[in-house]
Amino acid sequence: MRVKGSCLCRAVSFSFDLKNKDFDACHCSMCRQWGGGPALAVKSEGNIDFLGEEHITVYSSSAWAERGFCKFCGSHLFYRLKDKKHNFCNFQLGTIENNEDFKFVSQIYIDAKPANYSFSNETKKMTEKEVLEDFGVSE
Ligand SMILES: [Zn+2]
Ligand SMILES: [Zn+2]
Repeated sequence: MRVKGSCLCRAVSFSFDLKNKDFDACHCSMCRQWGGGPALAVKSEGNIDFLGEEHITVYSSSAWAERGFCKFCGSHLFYRLKDKKHNFCNFQLGTIENNEDFKFVSQIYIDAKPANYSFSNETKKMTEKEVLEDFGVSE
């Protein structure tokens, strides 16, 4: 299943394959500061085709992850692990076309979520420690 998407100003567009239409919410402090709130992300599979890739700025947000955004409109496009053996990007749900039927399946960094909001959806929940083990990285 192939999906398409773009940033707000359409300088950058992309398409990629999905294994399923699941999305995650990340409550980590970096996502919340980067996006002004928790991030909703869909995992790509395999090759990503970009148009306007030269308009993406990639910010190195930690020793093991980086974040891409459009340098014109500021739309957040993805975060990904620097380790290239993980051939995927976590694309922001809101940049993907026709995303209404995607399913909210998990919340990561649940132990970093502040008490002043919470989602009512029934989802799997993972702590920072569980996420890092899943990614195969150690801090
Ligand atoms: Zn843009
Ligand atoms: Zn995060």
